[in-house]
Amino acid sequence: MTRMSGSRTQLYIDGAWSEATSDETRPVINPATGKAIADMAIASTADVDRAVAAARAALETGPWSQMTGYARRGLLLAFARELRDAAASIGETATDDMGMPLMFTTASTIVAADYVEYFAGWADKIAGEVVPTPVPGALDYTIRHPVGVVAAIVPWNAPIYISISKLAPALAAGCTVVLKPSEEAPLAPLKLAECVERAGFPPGVVNVVTGLGPGVGAALVAHPGVDKVSFTGGTELGRVIGAEAARTFKRVALELGGKSANIVFADADLDAAAMGATMAVLMNTGQQCIAGSRLLVQRPVYEEVLGKVAAITGGWSVGDPRASTSQVGPLISERHLDRVVGYVGEAAASGRVVLGGERLGGDLADGFYVGPTLVADVDTTSALWREEVFGPVTVAVPFDTPAEAVALANDSDFGLAGGVWTHDLDTAHGVAGAMRTGTVWVNSYLAMFPSAPFGGHKESGVGREGGRVAVEEYTELTNVFLQLRPV
Ligand code: NDP
Repeated sequence: MTRMSGSRTQLYIDGAWSEATSDETRPVINPATGKAIADMAIASTADVDRAVAAARAALETGPWSQMTGYARRGLLLAFARELRDAAASIGETATDDMGMPLMFTTASTIVAADYVEYFAGWADKIAGEVVPTPVPGALDYTIRHPVGVVAAIVPWNAPIYISISKLAPALAAGCTVVLKPSEEAPLAPLKLAECVERAGFPPGVVNVVTGLGPGVGAALVAHPGVDKVSFTGGTELGRVIGAEAARTFKRVALELGGKSANIVFADADLDAAAMGATMAVLMNTGQQCIAGSRLLVQRPVYEEVLGKVAAITGGWSVGDPRASTSQVGPLISERHLDRVVGYVGEAAASGRVVLGGERLGGDLADGFYVGPTLVADVDTTSALWREEVFGPVTVAVPFDTPAEAVALANDSDFGLAGGVWTHDLDTAHGVAGAMRTGTVWVNSYLAMFPSAPFGGHKESGVGREGGRVAVEEYTELTNVFLQLRPV
């Protein structure tokens, strides 16, 4: 559990834990039991102003403003150590908060520590460059400044990983941050703030304010003291946030939804492909932007692959996310469960439900559980094929040629990720190069590491997280031109 007064969470502002000035709270529901486990404080506008002011002061006048990249690297490495030490406890909090099985939330905290270490390595390597000029006797160079105060707005589905994928590059670049977790999963991000505190960051460098999206989130996006909004969430909200950020000339990064295609060719290792297709959807109970939820299989092996996927998928253990054996947990809320089941119900008229599609009862009736679901022969104009379901649901269609597979894969408003399963070099490189997505995995799915740029094409977003480009996106360039006197 995190810092509380009674059952009520606190805010982390200017290096201290404090009560929200508003009395309003929202219950935090454990999706495995349907029961409230805490009351999330709802920050007021005054609290948001205080957090932004603290971040601005830390950026401009506090000790952080004077720190070299070398010093920032040291603090980030201390932060990574704190995350590693607290991995079990952060994992438990995240599991109770949003239902991801414990084995994954703990692992996700360790991966988060890896990310922080990787970006610590960039903190002392951020440099401008010398620019050639047409002017004799001149020197031209660039300086990279931190972009400023960053509002990091994160969703509920991977609260640790996504918070860190914003915090780590932003801090490496010298920015300060106000983090706003989702109201559905605020507890684990608050625990991250405890690690920030123990690592010894100066006050105001990292602040966490909880509250509702249209209140606290919108206040941050509109705030004149914020220089950049880094948002991860749904595409429709991303459109609104992008427009609002543009109105005030804020820099903006948007990591949005996906409906990724996972393409299996007949020559592939079909057992590996079926396992990959299962992981592509069932990890985090399908509540992941990169889910390979559209399965495209070459016609001669279509039924064979569906059989293998159904056998593996159906074998994953669904249950209490705190149990060490559970691989699939509950969905985040009852409302979301109804949405997921509704999608499958609509598509059942045109497709073939091979597996699942219903709410689970028995011992799991109090939680928000849907079993692993596979729907074959789906109409490619249906909502189930085209929209992001965000649940443990795979939809499958057959194809004949590589060109047809690419056309089907690219026929989407989204462009986040995709998979290709083949041992033919021409097919692997040809199809990977033709896919309009930010990431393509070949004979693999879900491989994520901090050095790889991650982000979306089309309506899946703007900007990249991961790699050097992620740090550079938290900087602003100044070009310096010097006319030197001849010696
Ligand atoms: P939402 O878009 O509903 O919310 C994301 C965040 O925005 C939350 O913190 C939310 O707060 C906040 N918010 C809500 N309204 C506003 C507003 N008016 N102004 C500012 N902030 C606001 O997404 P979900 O939390 O439902 O997450 C699921 C979505 O996230 C999926 O579409 C998924 O694809 C996407 N996602 C994308 C990833 C990527 O890297 N591309 C990775 C993971 C998820 P609150 O919750 O309190 O309302």
